Amino acid sequence: MEKGVLLTGGAGFIGSHVAVALINAGYRVYIVDNYANSSPDVLDRIERITGTPVYCTKMDVTDRVSLRNLFRCVSIESVIHLAGFKAVGESVADPLKYYRNNLEATMMLLDVMLEHGVKKLIFSSSATVYGSPEVVPIPETARTGCTNPYGWTKLMSEQMILDVCTAHPDFSAILLRYFNPVGAHPSGLIGESPSQPPTNLFPYICSVAAGEKDKLLIFGNDYPTPDGTGIRDYIHIEDLAAGHVSAMQYALEHTGSEIINLGAGQGYSVLDVIHTFERVNNVHVPYEIASRRPGDVAVCCAAPDKAERLLHWKAARSLPDMCRDAWRWTMTRTR
Ligand code: UDP
Repeated sequence: MEKGVLLTGGAGFIGSHVAVALINAGYRVYIVDNYANSSPDVLDRIERITGTPVYCTKMDVTDRVSLRNLFRCVSIESVIHLAGFKAVGESVADPLKYYRNNLEATMMLLDVMLEHGVKKLIFSSSATVYGSPEVVPIPETARTGCTNPYGWTKLMSEQMILDVCTAHPDFSAILLRYFNPVGAHPSGLIGESPSQPPTNLFPYICSVAAGEKDKLLIFGNDYPTPDGTGIRDYIHIEDLAAGHVSAMQYALEHTGSEIINLGAGQGYSVLDVIHTFERVNNVHVPYEIASRRPGDVAVCCAAPDKAERLLHWKAARSLPDMCRDAWRWTMTRTR
């Protein structure tokens, strides 16, 4: 039987793009998703983009019986674990929901992987584990510490995986710390469709440009940055997906663990993003300056050289590409 990659959370924003990248790179992909923040409609779109039938099972990764059945039924060589809750605000309001779900999912997956001798894991972590960074650009060796329960679930999951690697020297894990994934597939067929109102900058700008919201609130223009607004390292979702394929290749060829930033290494301010979005898409994005959002930092930017050195991967797409593709997807979504 052909060996494949188990992709948890494969129907989500990041998962659907990773699925396309893996299929295009020749991997056999088994998606599992409970559709908590996604919809099965995306599967048909992945098939349209790749021209390949997609295997997907509706399943909660915390469900040991179903997970075991899957590992028995299909031949899995490696796992990319993306499934998890990810709304920062909700995690503050309902921390136990996040600890229970996200930690249980990682633990269950590791358990069932070990049970079945599957030893290759890519985990989706986040730059949020750096908390308020002491140095920017941030290297993987920077001190960690989180400002919300969502971030802690990522950091605690990382620790569990590292401990499993220590206990099982033939295990291989890559912990990918994402910076700000944005944009969409250039086909306009897949993108971010959150089930809750947008809170992140790109989805919010898209909603305003599409007339779903009146205006964008800029959270603070008094940061110590050139224009006073917050600076982030935005990375095109297509680049991020390609990073997973490179990480998978690396994990298949090595044992042990690596923590790797996936960022562009280039920061843009909120105003940079708004102005670029308006220019490349010929739309208007009304905005108003509001007070700072609690927990936000002035600048968050990756030191991306480890990814380049180990994975031979580098973000290639520009801010205009991100804005263009995000808008193309918004027009599909709102049509
Ligand atoms: N931001 C903003 N208005 C919004 C949403 C975000 O000004 O409605 C700013 C936010 O303060 C930060 C940047 O945009 O400087 C990116 O925010 P996002 O929530 O997308 O990502 P994160 O804060 O997780 O880096």
